[in-house]
Amino acid sequence: MKTKAAILERVGEPFRIEEVELEGPRAGELLVKIVAVGVCHSDWHVASGMTKHPIPVVAGHEGAGVVHAVGEGVGDVKVGDHVILNWAPACGRCFYCRRDRASLCETYTPAIWAGTMLDGTTRLKWRGETVYSYSGLASFAEFSVVPRESVVVVRGDVALESAALVGCAVATGVGAAMFTAGVRAGESVVVLGCGGVGISIIQGARLCGAGQIIAVDTRVEKIPVGRHFGATSVLMASDDIPAVVRHHTDGRGADHVFEAIGVPAVQELAMRLARPGGTLTLAGLAPMGTATNFPSAVITREEITIKGSYYGTVNPQRDFPMLMDLYAAGKLDLDDMVTRRYRLEEINEAYRAMLAGELVRGVIVF
Ligand SMILES: [Zn+2]
Ligand SMILES: [Zn+2]
Repeated sequence: MKTKAAILERVGEPFRIEEVELEGPRAGELLVKIVAVGVCHSDWHVASGMTKHPIPVVAGHEGAGVVHAVGEGVGDVKVGDHVILNWAPACGRCFYCRRDRASLCETYTPAIWAGTMLDGTTRLKWRGETVYSYSGLASFAEFSVVPRESVVVVRGDVALESAALVGCAVATGVGAAMFTAGVRAGESVVVLGCGGVGISIIQGARLCGAGQIIAVDTRVEKIPVGRHFGATSVLMASDDIPAVVRHHTDGRGADHVFEAIGVPAVQELAMRLARPGGTLTLAGLAPMGTATNFPSAVITREEITIKGSYYGTVNPQRDFPMLMDLYAAGKLDLDDMVTRRYRLEEINEAYRAMLAGELVRGVIVF
């Protein structure tokens, strides 16, 4: 079949909208009609070359849609099911899966980074040339063929437009608070960055019953946004942040600090905001090859814990349905996280707005 997709033909160039050839699902795969897909920094890292990836590629990894056809041997998903796409498929059998660390599953990592299906082959062609699928999801397209392991079936009674965010930003942020850090009721939390991941961390901390939730951003427009989602105060990057955080925490620093951007200088600032015995969770993905200077003497003397959080330490098959239940119950606000909606043809404008910091999340709807 043919499908409309946003192709990245060369690094550093804009996305181009083209009709591409999409082969049907093979054994163990599904054809999904994409309903919505979020605009995330990780796709930009591919487009800008900061993440090395085979090209041409169809990116887009924060998608939700409806199953349109199922391949041979897929017995537990049917046409019409609502699904959220999962960019870190887990096998359920490897060393990490057996230890309930699905986001570290080692079985499918090579295929995912090769931009192929799990069997190492591709489904997309354009002008006779192979086109790769970023994260095996290629969701900047009307239709996508994806592995069964990369979909999570969710309840069918809530609209999928906002639900797409669960597939990346919301899982990453809510999961960082709930699972990686394990925020407990009454604890104090600082979140650096009020984009899609940061706002999700704020919501996760609120769901965990955090006491103080102090958010920090560079843009004054984020003050009401942070408060809307549960921050008890929102600071500007220009403020004396360590002094204000100490003021709010009896002079000690916060129980939990989250860095949601992936910028080494901000990660270094973040560590200074944690109290002795506190935890810094790094949820923003810094470009590969960058490094952060943490003062080891302080880490040792103050027993600071520094944790990496990849995909919020979630188990998508277990946790996406739970997040959808929280959304349906009105406890997790996804709708207001969608700052703007775009058509696929407007994808380059969506990325411009994302890079300018104008969005909590931009979502392409079909
Ligand atoms: Zn595994
Ligand atoms: Zn993402």
